[in-house]
Amino acid sequence: MTRHTPFAVSLVALAAAVPAAAQTVAAPHESVKVRASLPLALPDHTEADIKGSLQAAYDKYKDLKEGKNADYIPALAKVDPAIYGIALVTADGRVYTAGDVASEVSIQSVSKVFTLAKVIEEQGPEAIEKRIGVDATGMRFNSIVAVELAQKELGGPEINPLVNPGAITATSMVAGATRDEVWNSLLAYYSDFAGRKLSVNQEVFKSESDTNQRNQAIGALMHAYEFIKSNPAQATDVYTEQCSVNVNARDLAVMAATLANAGRNPVTGKQVMATANVPEVLAVMMTAGLYDDSGKWLYHTGLPAKSGVGGALIAVSPGKFGIAVVSPPLDAAGNSVRAQKAIADISNALGGNPLAPKAR
Ligand code: GLN
Repeated sequence: MTRHTPFAVSLVALAAAVPAAAQTVAAPHESVKVRASLPLALPDHTEADIKGSLQAAYDKYKDLKEGKNADYIPALAKVDPAIYGIALVTADGRVYTAGDVASEVSIQSVSKVFTLAKVIEEQGPEAIEKRIGVDATGMRFNSIVAVELAQKELGGPEINPLVNPGAITATSMVAGATRDEVWNSLLAYYSDFAGRKLSVNQEVFKSESDTNQRNQAIGALMHAYEFIKSNPAQATDVYTEQCSVNVNARDLAVMAATLANAGRNPVTGKQVMATANVPEVLAVMMTAGLYDDSGKWLYHTGLPAKSGVGGALIAVSPGKFGIAVVSPPLDAAGNSVRAQKAIADISNALGGNPLAPKAR
């Protein structure tokens, strides 16, 4: 299968990724030369190192039985807890996988990153900072106490676009005259990050729509407190649909790698978001990507990351790689158990921690 052949993918991607001025060799058959003239995204690691690190993490955690599928969305309780896939995509477009990268799960809260990116693209980073905030709540992702404290006149801690109140608000900010327009532009945007046309898991969408009274309440409160300007019901509904988009580990790793590669999808070559807007997205991921366990995660990995209750976790090593693991059983904070362990091992083996400078 060509989509899993790292070398073939990399040549095309590299050719596409070279800025026009530096593109002395354009023809794909000559792209080996292009590759030789560019610094590799992981210069200190061979293909065998990278593949070995993925396989080692896969093997080490395959039989781990900790954690439990989310069940507050009934459809998620039914997902096979044995699904376990790992994918790493380098910032120069090489794709590596281990385990099950065919099975799709709903993207859930990982979607929040890409909606945040879209709003920043449309309105600039200040709009998010002013309207929602960019600080950790220190509370669970669907905390209503966090909303209460975030009321400006109380002067409490802010919220951010990676927990439900901020995420539903961010969705409410996406441009579009109708629900369809908003939805179509969001889905197209996610698809550009993934490098293929994504679609919605209708069973998950229905299941969550039937049971998301808490998120509806959060949307209504965000409207009452004037974070959401109008139509909170639509914002919550679109948010619920965005959480139901189906992805596999490879899709997620390409999405993460697009952030690692300054906003340009390293597999398709498309500039999906402005390079200038990437740091703000990564900053919020560092602050709040794993909810109230974000500090612990950062301590161990240094990586901007985002989890979802469907079992997905993505992480970004800027300039180096995007990585994703799909494995549904979650810990108490709502983060995939295997995914956290596997990504930490692989990233640390490959020198992925951006906070760990090499000694000169
Ligand atoms: N759709 C889920 C919710 O709103 C997403 C939560 C998550 O992945 N943490 O509850």
